[in-house]
Amino acid sequence: MRKPIIAGNWKMNLLQREAVALVDGLKPLVAAVDTVDIVVCPTYTALSATGKALEGANIQMGAQNVYVKASGAYTGEISPDMLKDTGCEWAIIGHSERRHILGETDALLNEKLHFALANGLKVMFCIGELLEERQGGQMNDVLTTQVTEGLKGISAAQLDNVVLAYEPVWAIGTGEVATPEQAEEVHVFVRALVKDLFGAAAAEAMRIQYGGSVKAENAGELISKPNVDGFLVGGAALKADSFAGIINAAK
Ligand code: PEP
Repeated sequence: MRKPIIAGNWKMNLLQREAVALVDGLKPLVAAVDTVDIVVCPTYTALSATGKALEGANIQMGAQNVYVKASGAYTGEISPDMLKDTGCEWAIIGHSERRHILGETDALLNEKLHFALANGLKVMFCIGELLEERQGGQMNDVLTTQVTEGLKGISAAQLDNVVLAYEPVWAIGTGEVATPEQAEEVHVFVRALVKDLFGAAAAEAMRIQYGGSVKAENAGELISKPNVDGFLVGGAALKADSFAGIINAAK
């Protein structure tokens, strides 16, 4: 039985006081939830303040990105130890905005995954096709490449600390959510890829989140699918009541 994991990706939003107000509002709404892993991913400048506000709460914290070096002349980058120093347990790697706006490649994302895991972070590793790739019949090839290249060289044991997030790019921030059937179809495909690469036990244990315009209103139906193991949420994670609504729908 896979424990669902629901994470909020706040992207480049919220000043420190807004971030603290959000988690202060969220904590009482989800205090009784022990059947779902809950994670919030603030922007770097709000990590420390959010981490302090989360002390003792049943909400974990993650970063939206991480670099592949421990320290040194890498202007603007951030290391796993720096993230852990603020209270982060997780990092998102491979979000479509970093793939498509910042130009991060499968090879770099694989390097990030190795470095983050080796340095004690857990990772939500994002994959997902563009609309034209889905319409052009390339979706399965794209996902196969993202999974195969992204997880290259990772051991089955390390996979315990990896969650995959299937986020069709056409559904992110558009209000156009994948149907539960579309999400389930891809999650089954991705789980089969994991099985080919790492074996049946690893595939069965792998949590696969769906991301893309998730709201409290559609979360229950999506998570009722057997291979949907949680969500990575953007816009609806920026308000305590809407994020709690998704968590409670999943619970
Ligand atoms: C995301 O950015 O990961 C995301 C899924 O955004 P939204 O929920 O706003 O579509």
